[in-house]
Amino acid sequence: MENGNVAEIFGEKVFNLPTMKARLPKDIYKSLLKTINDGSKLDISVAEVVANAMKDWALENGCTHYTHWFQPMTGLTAEKHDSFIQPTDDRTVIMEFSGKELVMGEPDASSFPSGGLRATFEARGYTAWDPTSFAFIKDHSLYIPTSFVSYTGEVLDKKTPLLRSEAAIDKAARRVLALFGKFPKRVVSYVGPEQEYFLVDKKLRNKRKDLLLTGRTLFGAKPAKGQEMDDHYFGQIKERVAAFMQEVDEELWKLGVLAKTKHNEVAPAQHEIAPIFSTTNISSDHNQLTMEVLKKVADHHGLYCLLHEKPYEGINGSGKHNNWSIGTSDGELLLKPGKKPEENVQFLLFLAAVIKAVDDYADLLRVSVATAGNDHRLGANEAPPAIISMYLGDQLAAVVDQLKSGKGVKYEAGKLIETGVESLPDIEKDTTDRNRTSPFAFTGNRFEFRAPGSRQSIAGINIVINAIVSETLTEIADQLDGSKDISKDALELAIKIFKDHERIIFNGNGYSDEWVAEAEKRGLYNLKTTPDAMPYFVTQKSIDLFTKQEVFTDVEVKTRGEIMMEDYNNTLHFEMLTMLEMAKQEILPACLKYTKFVTDDIASKKALGLNAPKELEKAQRLTELTEDLMIKIDTLDAATDVPDVDVYAVGMYYKDTVLPAMDALRETADTLETIVAKEYWPFPTYTDLLYLV
Ligand code: ADP
Ligand code: MG
Repeated sequence: MENGNVAEIFGEKVFNLPTMKARLPKDIYKSLLKTINDGSKLDISVAEVVANAMKDWALENGCTHYTHWFQPMTGLTAEKHDSFIQPTDDRTVIMEFSGKELVMGEPDASSFPSGGLRATFEARGYTAWDPTSFAFIKDHSLYIPTSFVSYTGEVLDKKTPLLRSEAAIDKAARRVLALFGKFPKRVVSYVGPEQEYFLVDKKLRNKRKDLLLTGRTLFGAKPAKGQEMDDHYFGQIKERVAAFMQEVDEELWKLGVLAKTKHNEVAPAQHEIAPIFSTTNISSDHNQLTMEVLKKVADHHGLYCLLHEKPYEGINGSGKHNNWSIGTSDGELLLKPGKKPEENVQFLLFLAAVIKAVDDYADLLRVSVATAGNDHRLGANEAPPAIISMYLGDQLAAVVDQLKSGKGVKYEAGKLIETGVESLPDIEKDTTDRNRTSPFAFTGNRFEFRAPGSRQSIAGINIVINAIVSETLTEIADQLDGSKDISKDALELAIKIFKDHERIIFNGNGYSDEWVAEAEKRGLYNLKTTPDAMPYFVTQKSIDLFTKQEVFTDVEVKTRGEIMMEDYNNTLHFEMLTMLEMAKQEILPACLKYTKFVTDDIASKKALGLNAPKELEKAQRLTELTEDLMIKIDTLDAATDVPDVDVYAVGMYYKDTVLPAMDALRETADTLETIVAKEYWPFPTYTDLLYLV
């Protein structure tokens, strides 16, 4: 940026509050603000005025089209653009945008996955304006964030259930706060997602079908230099990458995204960007925008941005740490230990609610991060294990232990609790030696869920977190309703919960084998892969939770489970086919050609009476490995015959039959890569991809 004035460009492409205020009549602005802040219903006459102001603003900023921007269950975003043109009698056009067009859209989006929902209910999907997330301008279009639902109201997207889960948290948390005599207007959840990604030279990437079609390398021998040197993490940022990052930040700031930190990550060519946290709905929209902008801007710099969870085997993968908290409209963070003991009782109760939620529904949290890509990450020694557990930090864990033991906890009417909770240390400062191996770690005033994959939409993850915490808060409110001495009863209940759910707390090394054994003893889930985890989404317990918290209906849970499973199956299917294509059309011919070069060389030496025993050995090895490659191609080829069974069983088939066949083929091909001359190898190697950025 020329003059470095970020404040000036921030939000310039957003129809934000200052823009609304400047362009809307006072009463209209007021009633729109009420909708945004309190969720009150919006009158169509108000929408009419807003639409007109939006249109004028959009036209002044070079727009010709508008689009209802929505988030189908693919986890991506979708858009269909309509121009503002309206024909007139004299065969010219004027630019128009009505309230109805703002509020509702009807994309003929019948090809999005609906798990049969649309067939069952109504063919068409409708988009509905979400006024709580601001409209913005991108590529000459006015983007209107929307929900996507069927005519009868079944959700077809990720935003609607996220908004419902926000309503659930609001309701449940306010019930608990009321017990403490607090009546905030609203309680919301906040998220700050840390986004990891890889950059790769675009020209090199385009030479690899696997990267082109699946986002990850399906072949590739280990590079001579991996990440062992630890010289990339927080290292100096290369010039080309720095220029890319600068443009990303500027683009995001214009879109009102609070892009804050950027740095190199552990692996070569791996980086991270994180915003300042916002409400979960906005954060979710902004994270989608961030992923889009990363892709788009990379292209301007001859780069390609890989958002896949595991682009390179043997090199750290990419995650998306989901920092989650809840707070009131009065600005109180409910997971922040207070300074006063009575505040601490309330804090301990909210803490207990999260602990109980994670323990009771660890299976659903696991499902929320289960994708084909993330399976390569979770459980490897770089990301949290597939076992869900929680880390509280030394100081808070000590307080909880003390409370559980009952030592020092004295209660006198009117005087509240002695020791332990009376003077909670400033836990926010205790975030330096955080346990990076824990999937769900307390970090001062929030929980950091470290298991999500880099490419995932954060909506699905936070739908689950909000729903399970709403459930435990509801149970807590039910138990404490009518309490005559809330401080005492709340503390007792919190202590009981700490005791009942102590198995979920683990402060040790989550990467160790001992933990796997220990977790099994504790009865914790260890759902290693997506096909193992996915059935837990559709259990009666899960359906009961989601329906009770009004996040999903019974049928929505079932269809969503099916879609997630199908996504895994489709991913594996394309990977399998891509692998076969590369092996048959590129790797095998290269091996044959190189073997011929070697054998021809041996033959010509022989003709001259020269002896080349080592070369002969090499030819023998090449021949054996190439034969082996062909056998493994055949095995994978045979595996393409997928049995005609239900989606969950198909998932198991991909996991148990296809994946091992893919691994076996890769192993042979990767060995061949190490002995075939580079000029014969048909595509760029790991060293090229990782170091030529
Ligand atoms: P680290 O890498 O040390 O974990 P970062 O600063 O990279 O930390 O990211 C932390 C993220 O957590 C940021 O997006 C930050 O805004 C967010 N965050 C901070 N406080 C809260 C909170 N109370 N609720 C949700 N997110 C938060
Ligand atoms: Mg970080």
